Amino acid sequence: MDDLELLADLHRRNERQGPGGEAETLLALRLAGLDSGATLRIADIGCGAGASALLLARHLDARVTAVDFLPAFVDELRARAVAAGVADRVEPVQASMDHLPFERGTFDAIWSEGAVYNIGFERGVREWRRFLKPGGILAVTEITWLTDERPAELQAHWEAVYPEIDTASMKIRALERSGYTPVGYFVLPERCWFDNYYGPVEAGFTQFLDRHGHGAAARALVEAEREEIALYGKYRAYVGYGFYIAKLGAC
Ligand code: SAH
Repeated sequence: MDDLELLADLHRRNERQGPGGEAETLLALRLAGLDSGATLRIADIGCGAGASALLLARHLDARVTAVDFLPAFVDELRARAVAAGVADRVEPVQASMDHLPFERGTFDAIWSEGAVYNIGFERGVREWRRFLKPGGILAVTEITWLTDERPAELQAHWEAVYPEIDTASMKIRALERSGYTPVGYFVLPERCWFDNYYGPVEAGFTQFLDRHGHGAAARALVEAEREEIALYGKYRAYVGYGFYIAKLGAC
């Protein structure tokens, strides 16, 4: 198994593969003000096992195209869509978010929770806009500084792993520069990290290590996850996930 397959194996059984929550996805949906006069077309990019894609399919008259580049997640999502009785409205697509196989102006909304950082927020919001209809909605979560200043250790960590991390005002500015009108922003509460994401990941460490014979790569992955969890626990007053909801101007 390569590193990505190991990562998928650690996370695929969990409800979510990143911080988030049902109430928060639904709050973003309310802020989006999607008009469901006709069946909506929605893309969920970097959908993982499909927490938000399935929720959107259950709550809206919509066809949801759920995209992830890891086959293990796409398979998991397909099985969960069947179990949730929404398989006829959820289309799993294995593709990379930097090479999306869609026509211009396809979607009423693009959703993406805990995933856009893989190509960078600015690049993602700029490139994905062409897949939105005029007036379409973008709803993305992004790692965000919660304060204007922060401890040096934390700053150094994030500058090394994701230098695009910034405050909400700068993220909102980036949305405006790409032609969007911001219509909503909120910070995911801590339980979205601890209860919905890190807790289930930690609970799976022992079985994960057993499945992989306590090999070096599996141990290194668990160690990296433990460090990430500790860092978030120590500095959660300074860093979090912002939920950004924005509307594309007519263009
Ligand atoms: N949205 C889900 C998953 C978040 S984890 C949730 O909130 O639970 C980030 C996801 O992005 C993973 O499923 C990972 O496989 C996917 N991903 C990472 N790089 C990608 C890329 N280049 N193209 C498509 N998906 C990608």
